Formats: sequence, C-alpha cells, structure tokens
Amino acid sequence: MLAYTYINKGQFSLLDKPRPVIQDPRDAIVRITLGSICTSDIHIRHGKVPRAVPGVTIGHEMVGIVEETGSGITSVKRGDRVTVNVETFCGECFFCRHGYVNNCTDKDGGWALGCRIDGGLAEYVRVPFADQGLNKIPDTVTDEQALFVGDILATGFWATRISDITADDTVLIIGAGPTGLCTLLCVMLKSPKHIIICERSEERREFVRRHYPEVMLTTPENCHDFVIRHSEHGGADIVLEVAGSNNSFRMAWECARPNATVTIVALYEEAQTLPLPDMYGKNLTFKTGGVDGCDCAEILRLIEKGKIDTTPFITHRFPLERIDEAYRLFEGKSDGVIKVAIENPKTM
Ligand SMILES: [Zn+2]
Ligand SMILES: [Zn+2]
Repeated sequence: MLAYTYINKGQFSLLDKPRPVIQDPRDAIVRITLGSICTSDIHIRHGKVPRAVPGVTIGHEMVGIVEETGSGITSVKRGDRVTVNVETFCGECFFCRHGYVNNCTDKDGGWALGCRIDGGLAEYVRVPFADQGLNKIPDTVTDEQALFVGDILATGFWATRISDITADDTVLIIGAGPTGLCTLLCVMLKSPKHIIICERSEERREFVRRHYPEVMLTTPENCHDFVIRHSEHGGADIVLEVAGSNNSFRMAWECARPNATVTIVALYEEAQTLPLPDMYGKNLTFKTGGVDGCDCAEILRLIEKGKIDTTPFITHRFPLERIDEAYRLFEGKSDGVIKVAIENPKTM
C-alpha cells in the first residue's frame, strides 16, 4: 500500500509498504478514506519533533472504515465508519483514568500515530487501543464533516474546556490557522461577550470576516492596543495562544489582564522565555498543551446537531498519489489554503 513516510530530517516520501496487521487483541485496522496534513507534520519534517522515528508513516488526522478488529475490541466492528484519535491511550493507567490521556503511560500512549508508530497518510492504519481511539461517525455526518474530530478539533475543544470561559469574558485567540479556527468554533459555543482574533495573514482575516462576522479582528502589530481598547479590565480575560510564532507567546501574556488565564495550545519549534520580572504582579495562570483527546464522541454529537461545522476549512482536495503537491501547498500556505483533504480513491 502507499504510505507517506518520514525518511529523515527534511524528507518525506510516498513509499510502497506492506499493509499493517493486528499485533495485539486491542488493535484495529482502519481503511483510510480521508486524511489531512497537520502543521505538526511540518515540525516532524523540520526535525523539530525528537520523538518522531525515521521510517514511520506520518499522518494523524484521518477517518475511515474499520477493516479488521482484534479479539479484545468491543466498541467498533468491521464496516463501521470511524474517526481516528490522534492519541492512543490505554484507558486504565492513572493519567487515562483522570482524562489526561495525552500522558498515558503505555509505550504507545499519547501522540504515537504518525510520529512513533505508523500513521494514516496511507491506505490503511493500525490503531492500538482501538476501543478508546475510534469513534463511530453518525450516519448523517459525512467523512469531510468528521475529518478534523480526532486532532485539531479535539485540540480546539480541549483548549476551550480547560480555559473555563464564561459569558462575561473577552477572549483573545492568537492565530487563525486551522487549529485557531477550530478553537474559534469551540469558543463560540461558550458565547463569551467578545471574541478577538489576532492573525497576521490578510487572507485568513478575510476568511474569518466572511464566515464569522461577529468576531473582532486585529493584527500582531495592533493586537495589544486593540485588546486594551476592547476589554473592560485592561486586557483579555482569557487568551488562547495558537500561533506558535516568534513573538506570539510574549503577546499572549502581554494582552492578558491581571489574573487572566493564558492557554498555550501552540507547538513551538523554539524554546520560549518566561520573563517573570516583567509579568510580576499580573498573577497569571498558564495552561499548556497538548491536547487530551478524549472528547471525540461529544464533538461528533455537536457536529451531528449542526453546532460545529469545519467543512469550510477544507479548501483543497488531493488524491494520496499527489500528496507531495498537497504538502508543498499546505506548507507554503499558498492559494488560500487552510486544510487539504487527502482522498484515497482506492478505498472510498
Ligand atoms: Zn495534528
Ligand atoms: Zn493510559
């Protein structure tokens, strides 16, 4: 089968590999119908994800059809249409029992798919702990509607959940890339008083303006002044930092009011500094990523009810055979791309 593979730093290649097989009673094999490319994949290619194993099939955003299940699997069966969670987790260890599934202590726990074990930019994927990691897609929800449930939408949902947003809050979201937009959709469900998005790209600001006219928009240059002007207590009550760029961490805490919560969703390529003398007395609460992806069933229910719709984010579609082209487009942020859907013509 075709599998998009991390060769070594700077190189991905579409290789022919054997189809995965069940290795453990708690595994399932999923025939991928749709996948996507994530910014985390770019970090792997840049050699910035030390855990990523050369030779691994990348891809951790996908939906598909269950092809085969191990003898221990009870929640899904062959033929079920499913979302695949970015994180694999045992469901039994201390962290899993507390909902902190990103830190599952199993050797395959946390973000393993498409990083430490073979992922889903391929025709088939083996999913360990499939009872936890697969969620059935309701009949009325399409593959495209469900595509982002297991990763970027799970991230936006989790980031919103841990930020404890109330109806009185002014919420600042830094970055309107794919994860920032997913975060926006989840924040909107909390109906805060104001939502401000800070985004560098005019093209992406225009996307937000067109689809979500009630959201206020600013740029990195004007962000601090804009937030001060549009909040009642000297800054945003809640800041969600999703950009992960050079100065966005600093911007996040500078735009927060005293005693605010700053939730860091971004995956940085460089270390960030926490200049405690500069922020002394602001009494901030920082919460940091990555996602505990255990809300996928609830997210699917919200999609089914029409409360979340990420389909406008799919701006381009490519067959798996042309993934190199899709990857270049996505990394180059060209042609107005937000997300690409990678179709598996053979398995659809
Ligand atoms: Zn991702
Ligand atoms: Zn666990």
